Amino acid sequence: MTAQTAPQPSRLAMVPFVSVAHMMDLVNQRGIETVLRELADVIEADFKRWPEFDKTARVASHSDEGVIELMPTADADNYGFKYVNGHPKNMKEGYQTVTAFGVLSSVANGYPILLSEMTVLTALRTAATSALVGKYLAPKGAGTMAMFGNGAQCEFQAIAFKTLVGIDTVRLYDIDPAATEKAARNLEGSGLKVIKCSSGEEVVEGAEIITTCTADKQYATILTDNMVGSGVHINAIGGDCPGKTELHRDILLRSDIFVEYPPQTWVEGEIQQLEKGHPLTELWQVMRGEAEGRRDARQITLFDSVGFAIEDFSALRYIHTQVKDGAPHALLDMLADPDDPRDLFGMVKRAAV
Ligand code: NAD
Repeated sequence: MTAQTAPQPSRLAMVPFVSVAHMMDLVNQRGIETVLRELADVIEADFKRWPEFDKTARVASHSDEGVIELMPTADADNYGFKYVNGHPKNMKEGYQTVTAFGVLSSVANGYPILLSEMTVLTALRTAATSALVGKYLAPKGAGTMAMFGNGAQCEFQAIAFKTLVGIDTVRLYDIDPAATEKAARNLEGSGLKVIKCSSGEEVVEGAEIITTCTADKQYATILTDNMVGSGVHINAIGGDCPGKTELHRDILLRSDIFVEYPPQTWVEGEIQQLEKGHPLTELWQVMRGEAEGRRDARQITLFDSVGFAIEDFSALRYIHTQVKDGAPHALLDMLADPDDPRDLFGMVKRAAV
């Protein structure tokens, strides 16, 4: 047998890959506020064409310690999925509570067109979604947000609400004061006034927006009914798994509740504490002007966020556009590309040197 050099993959078979380092470069080069604004625009555009998507509640594999999930969706042109975990105990062992990566593919031929890290991207898309929803639901002129939970998502949320909703003050509280110190340090120079608080009662003082972003695998009561005054908007993002909630049930009974995709939120959201049939409003309908958002200044609005696949699809779509415009990425030899598509075996054989 004559020795041959292994065939080089053609550029067509190479898949753009955005690593964590590339994602950080993109955010730092464009500026986080620009990225959050652009991401929110893509998410809003996709929510407004909600009926065009294949939708399914995410596929979750639960264990005592956490959950691993696949989040797929597709429109006529692209298919996307995210792999994501949620392990509240991780942080104490030096790991992220949430890590993720995702793929965007062409529906036409099924080929992946992007592989991306999604740990940083999930924090960005979650913050962009929360603040986008805040734009529709928060009381007019809201200037102060209370943040329960000052972990990995915290600063992204604070900056997104500054950028999209216009808050100027964030009040921080975490059961671990070191987390609050870290968040306050990171938010220096962000343009936000940062107030460190030492209790839940203190953090909600004067806040028109309350974000709950804690991680604990239990029915927790981070927020009790007496902490929530009229007119407040609650952005509840930490309760996102069966048996993992943050709000006292009485708050839900006083609130108008807005959700992403009801079949998933009934299983994972705060509303798992309610009887099925409780009235909900789907956010895509609010964004299309087909359902009412905030009606009046005294109404309590609640975004029962669990994170839905279309938000990740939008985020991947956004990153794909950035890559096409030259954003940092590598090319991965991920797809077999024999000269004759039927000669997969021959390609392997010829590669033996
Ligand atoms: P993290 O582990 O980095 O931070 C969580 C923080 O919550 C920690 O600092 C912890 O000390 C604090 N905390 C725990 N119990 C508390 C309490 N009773 N009061 C105040 N603080 C408390 O986690 P993260 O990556 O920031 O994620 C936070 C939560 O958001 C997780 O539950 C995660 O699953 C969820 N999440 C939701 C979405 C979504 O789309 N809805 C997206 C990403 C993450």
